[in-house]
Amino acid sequence: MDRTNQVYEGKAKKVFATTDPEIYVVEYKDDATAFNGLKKGTIAGKGVINNRVTNHLMRLIEDNGIPTHYVRQISDRETAVRKVKIIPIEVIVRNIAAGSLSKRLGLPEGTKLSSTVLEYCYKDDELGDPMINEYHIKAMGLASEEELRLIADYSFRINRILCGYLQDLKIELIDFKLEFGKTSDGTVILADEISPDTCRFWDTETGEKLDKDRFRRDLGHVEDAYQEILRRLMGA
Ligand code: UDP
Repeated sequence: MDRTNQVYEGKAKKVFATTDPEIYVVEYKDDATAFNGLKKGTIAGKGVINNRVTNHLMRLIEDNGIPTHYVRQISDRETAVRKVKIIPIEVIVRNIAAGSLSKRLGLPEGTKLSSTVLEYCYKDDELGDPMINEYHIKAMGLASEEELRLIADYSFRINRILCGYLQDLKIELIDFKLEFGKTSDGTVILADEISPDTCRFWDTETGEKLDKDRFRRDLGHVEDAYQEILRRLMGA
């Protein structure tokens, strides 16, 4: 299986076709953006860390019975994944108020939500990924009712798997974003990445932010935070 032409370049990753029609290769970049591309920068070593962190968590999720696109890591920055058509919905899972939810609802960051909140956003950069609900998803034909039920069920289960695992590493999972895709036979599987770019991770004891908010909010020690997440996950 060899990498052939590039099929997509996003803000943090490139995707390549391969000689196997069912397999893509993802390459993680050090580029970082925030606020819908308004803030741009690089985080040295981020691509290598996000590749490893994502694969570690994808394997954990797969081992717990949820299908993912993960196939195998190829190099520091590259991973072979199952080819999917991405469902244009970002699923946000929230355990504790932060970011846009805090702003929208006036809940101070760090407020524990008494039950897990699921939100959906329509994946469209030009529109700034607007929040949508089940009715929009159905009306726009973004996913069928059955697919959406599965996506919601998987998202809650992934939340429980990740929260339990990270708790032992003294990492609090505040919120995160998931994307799902469909394989050529229509199976819905978890795709994209799960990393400090797409999750809020707070140190359980100190509350220190160990994620992309350090970049978004110019908190400093961005690289150190990403490195610390990798270190805890790898048990080093
Ligand atoms: N998130 C993401 N990509 C997006 C939007 C959000 O990965 O395009 C993640 C973000 O890192 C956080 C969670 O989803 O872990 C919730 O983000 P929020 O809606 O609070 O938006 P933000 O405050 O990041 O603008």
